[in-house]
Amino acid sequence: MSAPRLEVDLEKIRHNASALVSQLRGRGISVTGVTKACLGEPRFANALLGAGIKGLGDSRIENIEAMRRAGIKAPMTLIRSPMPSQADRVVAHADISFNTELDVIGALSAAARRAGRRHGVVLMVEMGDLREGIMPGDLQETVRAALRFPNIDLKGIGTNLACQSGVSPDAGNMSDLSRLADVLDEAFGLVIRVVSGGNSSNLEWALSGEKAGRINNLRLGESILLGLNPLDRQPIEGLYTNAISLVAEVIEAKTKPSRPWGKIAQTAFGAMPPSGQDGSAFRTILALGRQDIDPLGLTAAPGIEVLGASSDHLMVDTGKSYVSAGSEMTFQLNYSALLRAMTSPFVTKTYSLPAGQGAFEARMAPGPRSSEELHQWH
Ligand SMILES: *Cc1c(COP(=O)(O)O)cnc(C)c1O
Repeated sequence: MSAPRLEVDLEKIRHNASALVSQLRGRGISVTGVTKACLGEPRFANALLGAGIKGLGDSRIENIEAMRRAGIKAPMTLIRSPMPSQADRVVAHADISFNTELDVIGALSAAARRAGRRHGVVLMVEMGDLREGIMPGDLQETVRAALRFPNIDLKGIGTNLACQSGVSPDAGNMSDLSRLADVLDEAFGLVIRVVSGGNSSNLEWALSGEKAGRINNLRLGESILLGLNPLDRQPIEGLYTNAISLVAEVIEAKTKPSRPWGKIAQTAFGAMPPSGQDGSAFRTILALGRQDIDPLGLTAAPGIEVLGASSDHLMVDTGKSYVSAGSEMTFQLNYSALLRAMTSPFVTKTYSLPAGQGAFEARMAPGPRSSEELHQWH
């Protein structure tokens, strides 16, 4: 098999998605499966749909187009405000888009008229995280204007937290969002059907037993892929944290002094080199670098430490064990490393099929039993 490669276990992905769908269903909240970290890979999208997810969301129209080309018919939402220059493509392939600017909605409206279609709009509201969103005080005026655009259907409102500034979703900001939906319905007559409360970082709030209020949708990516709560990156009970792993190949393995020698200046990426301890260690180099991953986002198996990376070399300390050139090493990734690996043309992506679809039966694990087991290396 070629290296480096990402191995995505679609059975574990399906398990994670289905666990979240059923827990949230009990709270009256639907799940939009976010496909952007897998670049709209149709096999990933189909695993989400197989888990009971009804709608997909992606931040890039290119990914949505790729899923359409693969024959995926599920409702699709563009979860980043469209570029007006892409309005025609958005209207042609996405059913709904998230919006904050009337100029953009105007461009979508014109594109929808030209195409003889209708396009759904969810207005994003700024709730404090300072990424995208209409200020709450301006929302009513924006809704009034949005309702007048031909070929545009206002579907609802949404917000996104814990991205730019790390503002946590909580009972306060979620009930504020619910109240905005009520106010708009009173002013304009039941116009708000979807209230999309946020991303994976909303799960702690959503599963805490707090009243969901008007919140009836979440958009989930990271929690399905990595099984982690983005607020503290701790495992979510009952989910696999090892659905995705990265395999790289060793190209050098030598015993070397732990400290560099010579006159020390900056490294290739600016920082001072780590000083290291006295003595020597097995230093192993893998054919993997910053072009492929974020080295800070890699976790190796116990006893193996990632020392750093240049563009094309990943240095690891294998402690007392010697790993020869040509052997493979497996890592787990955080979201940042995963995004970079998915977008690197040098990293092969492999997807095992979920249960009932044939391949990789032998690799299918039974359902997780304990959080310790979920963390096990496979
Ligand atoms: C990426 C994204 C999501 C999904 O976030 P996760 O933390 O991966 O669940 C949801 N909503 C918007 C607007 C996004 O850009």
